[in-house]
Amino acid sequence: MEKIVVIGLGLIGGSLALDLKKKPNRTVIGIDASKENIQKALELQIINKIGSFSDISNADIVIISVPINAIPKLTEQVLDNCTENTLVFDVGSVKDNVCNAVKNHKNRKNFVAAHPIAGTEFSGPEAAFNGLFTEKTVIICEANLSDVAILERAKQLFDELEMKTTYMGAKAHDKHIAYVSHLSHISSFMLGKTVLEIEPDEENIFNMAGSGFKSTVRLAKSSPAMWTPIFVQNKENVLKSLNEYIKNLETFKELIENDESDEIYAIMQNTNRIKNILNGIIN
Ligand code: NAP
Repeated sequence: MEKIVVIGLGLIGGSLALDLKKKPNRTVIGIDASKENIQKALELQIINKIGSFSDISNADIVIISVPINAIPKLTEQVLDNCTENTLVFDVGSVKDNVCNAVKNHKNRKNFVAAHPIAGTEFSGPEAAFNGLFTEKTVIICEANLSDVAILERAKQLFDELEMKTTYMGAKAHDKHIAYVSHLSHISSFMLGKTVLEIEPDEENIFNMAGSGFKSTVRLAKSSPAMWTPIFVQNKENVLKSLNEYIKNLETFKELIENDESDEIYAIMQNTNRIKNILNGIIN
């Protein structure tokens, strides 16, 4: 029997548990700080059973899927208690903090710093579903510090989930992810906030929200418990991307003020390139 311990049974940990539990000869054991969430995970058959921290001492794989402010300390504690063959990986959306915390740990080689680029705006075990990771990318950071066999085991696991594995430095990961993911969340949260402030009639928002508004504001439904530590811990990169974004908003505002139709048109036409990029047509 292969023993997998998942710590944090929310959207990501729960979805991993569901997919990994499908294989025979495996037990998936769950640990969570929330009694309600762990109970729900058992009820929804996301895990085989509820466990405790002592399960780590003979686990084959430990997955750490809690908000990123709790990941560095928890990863150290897991590495303190795992066997020499245990694969330990986290799924946090910021990587430099955890890589730094464990860089001198005696069991650093057991650890794989991973970030699956997959998710939704929902959280908790009820949000977990089968197939969340299919055909998505997983980024592994500082792979050279993981043991070759442990890294290979992680790669096999991600292959089993039908994921595409890529490799990056932790600092580069945090810089690039700030632009493509963290900034989108801030932009969506602030769009939602602005509309709530300038349109106090909630019925008007409900009746007039077309698909454009709905899709742009979707990420504003995301969990503040998950996103607050991400913005704070990736502060430097988030601020850089936010400054660029604010500059663009100000420029666009000035162009509208000055009726500069040609320039407004040109900016939007140039930005349409995003369509090709998202369809995988890259120059
Ligand atoms: P989530 O749905 O909120 O689930 C997190 C679970 O962990 C909750 O049940 C939470 O309980 C529990 N928890 C919190 N602190 C804990 C601790 N110290 N020990 C044990 N359990 C703890 O969050 P998620 O969306 O799955 O995110 C988990 C991780 O995946 C985060 O690090 C995030 O950066 C990363 N990630 C998220 C996405 C995404 O789109 N959501 C994508 C890729 C990676 P409480 O609710 O009581 O706090």
